[in-house]
Amino acid sequence: MKPTPFEYVRAGSLGEVLSVLEERGDEAKVLAGGQSLIPTMNMRFAAPEVLIDISNVAEFRGIEVRDDVLRIGAMCRHVEVLNAPEVAKHAPLIAMAMPSIAHATIRNRGTFGGSLCHADPAAELPACVLALDARFNIHGKTGPRSVCAQDFFLGTYMTCLADDEVLISVDVPTANPENVFFFDEVARRKGDYAIAGLASQATVRDGIIADARLVFFAVSEVAIRADRAELALQGVPLENIDAEAICGAIADTITPFDDLTTSSAAKLTMMQVLTRRALETFASQGVAV
Ligand SMILES: Cc1cc2nc3c(=O)[nH]c(=O)nc-3n(C[C@H](O)[C@H](O)[C@H](O)COP(=O)(O)OP(=O)(O)OC[C@H]3O[C@@H](n4cnc5c(N)ncnc54)[C@H](O)[C@@H]3O)c2cc1C
Repeated sequence: MKPTPFEYVRAGSLGEVLSVLEERGDEAKVLAGGQSLIPTMNMRFAAPEVLIDISNVAEFRGIEVRDDVLRIGAMCRHVEVLNAPEVAKHAPLIAMAMPSIAHATIRNRGTFGGSLCHADPAAELPACVLALDARFNIHGKTGPRSVCAQDFFLGTYMTCLADDEVLISVDVPTANPENVFFFDEVARRKGDYAIAGLASQATVRDGIIADARLVFFAVSEVAIRADRAELALQGVPLENIDAEAICGAIADTITPFDDLTTSSAAKLTMMQVLTRRALETFASQGVAV
């Protein structure tokens, strides 16, 4: 199918992006890599009257480390993030997730910010930024604001961005030697959207888990933290991790949704398998910390 007719604006500055958004309101859509937006338009699930291409605007670009923060520009293509040494060093969880995002051709065009703004419940990056407690730098007609990852995602394909706002960049706290990371997903084929996935970070101090984040994706409307399991891990020495109890806490608190191919019960089993793998990683890598 073909999209309905639309105007195309190749913005040259952030000011131009914001003024078109202010003028056209919900008739306008930001175009980043187009890997989700264009198929949606082709299927006529979306019919914006104007697309604002942000690929030429400097503010959305670049990956840099400042003090203890890694800043990733919203317009950074997946392939740039995948190959960036700064990401591998300072945000290993994101580096681990990148190869699972689609296929090389899509990663050549799709962007870090586009993936987050699209807010697909099966996408890898929303779970990673939640696990890393990242902050989102947003700009709108009233100026800049910053929100934490937990407040950015509101539901399936829904974020806290107003019609006149754009995501400029994301700030990820840099990893420190006490952090241990785990990323894995179950997918039908490599590069497909996940059936169930887990992005996770633990802080291990003197052989004890000081803090843990377990964030599942593709199992509910938004990437979801397993709060009770996280709490149960706090203060636990690595050699005493009770995987059965942690998996039980997950089953008690999260009921995964069914999707077209996979039942809730099957997804829960996958979540528990992924959790056991994460706990084994914490136990083995945390010892070396
Ligand atoms: C076959 C296929 C397989 C895929 N598999 C996966 C997968 O396994 N995992 C995965 O995570 N993704 C997958 N994707 C999606 C891919 O990662 C896209 O790159 C991503 O979802 C959207 O990024 P984009 O840059 O293409 O955004 P676009 O398609 O350009 O935009 C997506 C949405 O975000 C908005 N937007 C984009 N940037 C901004 C911004 N800076 N500020 C405000 N709003 C903005 C747009 O207006 C639009 O509503 C797949 C896509 C395809 C076609």
